[in-house]
Amino acid sequence: RTKQRGRGTIEVFDRTMQGTMLRALKLEQEMRLALAAHEFLPFFQPIVDLRSGLIAGFEALARWQKPDGKLVSPAEFIPLSEEIGLINQIGRRMLATSAKQIATWQRSFPDQKLRVSVNLSSKQFGQPDLVEQIDAAIAEAGIEPDRLELEITESILMENTDAVIATLKAIRARGIKILLDDFGTGYSSLSYLHRFPSDALKIDGSFVRQAHKVPLSREIIRAIVLLARCLGGVVIAEGVETAEQLATMREMGCDFAQGYFFARPLPATAATELIAANRKW
Ligand code: C2E
Ligand code: MG
Ligand code: MG
Ligand code: MG
Repeated sequence: RTKQRGRGTIEVFDRTMQGTMLRALKLEQEMRLALAAHEFLPFFQPIVDLRSGLIAGFEALARWQKPDGKLVSPAEFIPLSEEIGLINQIGRRMLATSAKQIATWQRSFPDQKLRVSVNLSSKQFGQPDLVEQIDAAIAEAGIEPDRLELEITESILMENTDAVIATLKAIRARGIKILLDDFGTGYSSLSYLHRFPSDALKIDGSFVRQAHKVPLSREIIRAIVLLARCLGGVVIAEGVETAEQLATMREMGCDFAQGYFFARPLPATAATELIAANRKW
């Protein structure tokens, strides 16, 4: 952390910093207990197939549900969990629980072939047994591997490249799709894209939400759609909040969309009700 600061930067260890560190320590302690108490669980946000208008699957998004029912957002606990290494255990839990949910939906809705995508932190790629964890989640749930998808961000492309590529290839060899999350907000060069195998680009919500009013955002989306086609993949628009944005994404040839317009991330029971309602957008 200090390494990243420039030479000659003077760090003042004052009371504010001490307070911040104490809060982080307390949070770390709480998170370890929460993990043991199974308080980390996935919520599910529907992903809609823009051709049929039907739910194609869900993104699993981590939530920390305190015993009093209060929910903590991943923005609050994922960064710290990455710093202290707890992300590996949280990630493993997310994989296992999401795979079990796929199995449950498979039994209740056998014709729908719903898929669930799970977010992977680039830190998780530091684990030599990541692929084994994925295999174990699939085997324990008894699902077909192609029902599970994994979301990674461009930041991963900066990590230990050859090892990461080998892991991604092993994952895809199992029929598991790799989705590039928040696409357009990172710093990856285009040359990375064809070295790193992926099956879909998820257009970041910041472009989607501006698309109907900012011509440049529309051009960027058009370019991303083209790029995905060249790479042989599909495009998912994130953060769709209005009917107008949905219409724009359809017009621009996006294959799938997700966002508050359809539904917020939901607890498994509510997500199940949504599938049962068989709604068409
Ligand atoms: P993400 O993977 O890009 O997930 C999309 C985020 O956008 C989610 O926030 C989702 O609730 C939110 N979102 C969905 N539709 C809309 C919309 O229409 N408008 C707006 N404004 N937001 C929308 P969430 O659940 O708070 O997650 C935030 C981030 O935390 C995720 O971004 C992901 O990077 C990370 N995260 C969540 N769960 C996990 C996990 O299990 N593992 C890891 N490594 N990261 C996770
Ligand atoms: Mg994601
Ligand atoms: Mg995203
Ligand atoms: Mg994001």
